[in-house]
Amino acid sequence: MAKYNQNAPKLNDIVQVRIDTLLSCAHKAYAQRPADSKRYVELACTLAKRHRIAIGSKRKKLFCTKCFLPMILQKTMRIENEGEWEVQTCILCGKKKRFHCSKARTTPD
Ligand SMILES: [Zn+2]
Repeated sequence: MAKYNQNAPKLNDIVQVRIDTLLSCAHKAYAQRPADSKRYVELACTLAKRHRIAIGSKRKKLFCTKCFLPMILQKTMRIENEGEWEVQTCILCGKKKRFHCSKARTTPD
């Protein structure tokens, strides 16, 4: 008989939920408190590093990896199409990220 609850969530699952929560809070807080939203993104990255969890490409699209600004369309990022590639440009620091169009689109239209 196990002495601990085997159905309890694992530490990595808890940390991943926490990272997602921090990133969504960063997007919500940008309009009123931009400095706090950058801090939320920094905390999410620190958590991922501390627990050795990959942030992943889907989450990396949500913020600038250089200046930790949350990527919000028309406010903090610009999207350009270069052939098959979609280029996201951070307005604050100018860092560019390229995504292939087939992978960049998450919603079919
Ligand atoms: Zn940036």
